[in-house]
Amino acid sequence: MATRSAATQDDLRRHNLARLLRRLHEGGAASRSDLVAFTGLNRSTVGVLVSELADVGLVYEGAGAAGQVGRPSLMVQPSASSAVVVAFDLRVERTVAALVGLGGDVLVHKEQRHKRSSYTPETALRNIVSLVGSMMGKAPSPATWVGVGIGVPGIVDHVDGRVRLAPNLGWVDVPLGDMVREGLTSAFGFAPAVAVNNDADLGAIAEHARGVGKHSRNLIYVSGEVGIGGGVIIDGRPMTGAGGYGGEVGHMVVNPQGAMCRCGAKGCWETEIGRDAILAAAGLGGDQMEVADVIAAASGGNPKAQAAIDEAGEWLGIGLANLVNLFNPEVIVLGGHLRLLFPLVSGTVYRRIHYALPAVREQVRVEVPSLSGDSTLLGAAETAFEALLSDPIDVLARAHHAAAS
Ligand SMILES: [Zn+2]
Repeated sequence: MATRSAATQDDLRRHNLARLLRRLHEGGAASRSDLVAFTGLNRSTVGVLVSELADVGLVYEGAGAAGQVGRPSLMVQPSASSAVVVAFDLRVERTVAALVGLGGDVLVHKEQRHKRSSYTPETALRNIVSLVGSMMGKAPSPATWVGVGIGVPGIVDHVDGRVRLAPNLGWVDVPLGDMVREGLTSAFGFAPAVAVNNDADLGAIAEHARGVGKHSRNLIYVSGEVGIGGGVIIDGRPMTGAGGYGGEVGHMVVNPQGAMCRCGAKGCWETEIGRDAILAAAGLGGDQMEVADVIAAASGGNPKAQAAIDEAGEWLGIGLANLVNLFNPEVIVLGGHLRLLFPLVSGTVYRRIHYALPAVREQVRVEVPSLSGDSTLLGAAETAFEALLSDPIDVLARAHHAAAS
């Protein structure tokens, strides 16, 4: 019985360490009194837990903000230079990468363009390994590398990181998680936890944790890239569906008269408001063109570009009205090129949302991301920190051990 009770005690300690570190990582600096209130634990227990996290360097205590009445209390802060992750947003025509410290600070940010036609899984792997090398070369000392997070524009098995289908990359059944683990191990001698997820799911996670949806329980993130992705947070948790593939809003069929989609269906939402659809409607082709170019052409008086924007606004509103009825979200966040498009067509969008059921439409607001264009990247960083945040002391010890051996 003594052993069992000791095990329970240890579980409880680890659970509380994880709760404290997660609170500091997601919410930033807090006084010990804040942490007592947050955890419901007594002051001396919180003191012991903070000391344990401080002993391994994950947190430190420093003076609080100036200007408070009386003596400023010490604030417990996450140490950005204690643990780092490398995050990736693999897009159809560019790779965006960041070195992110505990607490969510982006320490290094890089972008590499690539040709869509030659971006094979092997090319992606080479880019990832080389970017990890250059990012870790810039990591603050003595940071421990605890994870890699990757966002992919496709359907991903988030358990093993297999990309089942990324239609706009032309990838089918790619074991990206395993490839990255093996690639990193052969390049660096070890690999930390590797998480691979759908890009829009990561956008939803980031905007819910740190962005414009921070205080909401029900959020939908819609990403506008070459394709249209969706990530759904229901009651504070990511909605996954049976296999983790839920939320593929880009492939809901909105227009049976529409164009063929790369997924094989006809008239998907993506074939109306995806980047290629808007460029085609505006009569602007070419790999280097962006929706921003259509917007610039429209504001320069190009009637075809203006018509393409107006049309996309109608379809955007129609799709969002469906999502509002289905999910009853408090906030819908429009990322990627939808972030640029929305301010130009918000009247049309709200007119279309007005066709949703009254009780649900009254509760929703449509926003653009507050994390600029990096929602997916920052969501990838969050998933890369997940192992550390679930069991801080153990994961750190194992990472030290792996790096040393
Ligand atoms: Zn489709």
